[in-house]
Amino acid sequence: MRYLPVFLDLQTGPVLLLGSGEFVRAKLRVLLAAEARIRWYATEGEHDVHGLEPAQLARIEFAKGDPLTADLTGVVAIFCAGAGDVGVTMSLRAKSVGLPVNVMDDLAHSTFIFPAIVDRGDVVVAIGTGGTSPVVARRVREKIEAVLPARIGDLAKFIGRFRKSIHARIPEMALRRRFWERVIDGPIGALVLSGHRDDAEAVLKGIADPSAFAGAGVSGKAKGHVALVGAGPGDPDLLTVKALRALQDADVVFYDELVSPEILDRIRRDAARVPVGRRVGKPGIGQEAINKLLIDAATSGQRVVRLKGGDAFVFGRGGEEVEALRAAGVAYSVVPGITAGLGAAAQFEVPLTFRREALRISFLTAHKAADADIVDWSTMTDSKMTVVVYMGMTAAPSVRDGLLAAGRSPRTPVGVFARVTRPDAQAAVGTLDQLPDLVDRIDGGPAILIIGDVVAHSAPWRRQNLNQVISDLLETAQ
Ligand code: SAH
Repeated sequence: MRYLPVFLDLQTGPVLLLGSGEFVRAKLRVLLAAEARIRWYATEGEHDVHGLEPAQLARIEFAKGDPLTADLTGVVAIFCAGAGDVGVTMSLRAKSVGLPVNVMDDLAHSTFIFPAIVDRGDVVVAIGTGGTSPVVARRVREKIEAVLPARIGDLAKFIGRFRKSIHARIPEMALRRRFWERVIDGPIGALVLSGHRDDAEAVLKGIADPSAFAGAGVSGKAKGHVALVGAGPGDPDLLTVKALRALQDADVVFYDELVSPEILDRIRRDAARVPVGRRVGKPGIGQEAINKLLIDAATSGQRVVRLKGGDAFVFGRGGEEVEALRAAGVAYSVVPGITAGLGAAAQFEVPLTFRREALRISFLTAHKAADADIVDWSTMTDSKMTVVVYMGMTAAPSVRDGLLAAGRSPRTPVGVFARVTRPDAQAAVGTLDQLPDLVDRIDGGPAILIIGDVVAHSAPWRRQNLNQVISDLLETAQ
């Protein structure tokens, strides 16, 4: 993010507008919509005012003389549109005195740029692309226009009117936020959005105990809650709608090392973020300590998210956390995530089950060779079973030996799928006897192993076969 979006109050002083023609008219429209006082220098010919209303004309000062020597005292910002070289020179002057300046379609001479705007009264959305593509910005705007309720600005105004009185009645900030969330998400918000503001006002004023409405406990404080949220394997687009919502509502997020930065980016800006996972070379803080953190945060009234890679209940110790929360009497909910095995299957096109070929799936972990030793491989003799191994990179030789000892064919197709759904995802496919070599070909974890005939349907397998066919053909041609 090179450009920080901020909202400029144009009522605090005049803005300087330089330019002529259609371009300047477009800027006039947007500046008038923001109720600016505009000091306009026409850089070519006369000021063209056709189509402007008297009320709008009253806010425009038709400046004469040379803008390059004009008095800039009190000016809030300078806009140049269709101003030619004068705009460029003006930009140098503005920069020398530290005034924000925009020269239309000229990044080099602008210290701020114009966003695409969705204007719903008090609710305004600004969309920027860092000046790279106005067309992309327009497309984003269309999408936002389509999902934003038409009266969202009315809703903001409505809340604005009651903010002070509710502030006085609910001093605690967290509880106040919940009060407004309930208003917005519930019937009162629906009434405003459907154009029934008076009814909404009557219902809001009828709330006898705003703290109770906000869900306060007997102590009068907000009630804490822990959401155990599966973050999926890495791609933020694989977060569920519920997960996204939990991240946006959170006061604090405790996350594991497997959670990707793109997903952390989806957390509400003001929420506290606490890493609790193992870091490279450093042990984690331990399950007991994590349980305590979750319980303490929730009992102090916070909305807590425990964010885990993949799914919390698949080799994620979610079960233990839920038990600890239950024992402590803390309210919780569980939001599923896409587990790494399913992420790998989707990305690399491994159908985990397949008509007569694969009728069962086993998800297992082989963190260390010792883990692999306690796996009962004899339950995996069935060649129609797909085996998905988590944390299996270092134990790959034991996994291979175990499955071979169970009678699986050394020719069974296998795949090692690393960093799945992330931009640097990687796959190595081959046969069971080659499993440790395939792991060696991977440039780093996390990686998941999939073993079974279905791997032969995968995209990397097909690609490898195609390469083989081509090289065989080339060889015979020589
Ligand atoms: N709860 C997680 C699993 C945690 S155990 C889930 O449901 O996915 C950690 C193991 O998960 C890693 O050792 C690796 O085997 C697997 N894993 C997690 N994220 C992965 C990813 N993006 N690509 C490949 N494997 C991954």
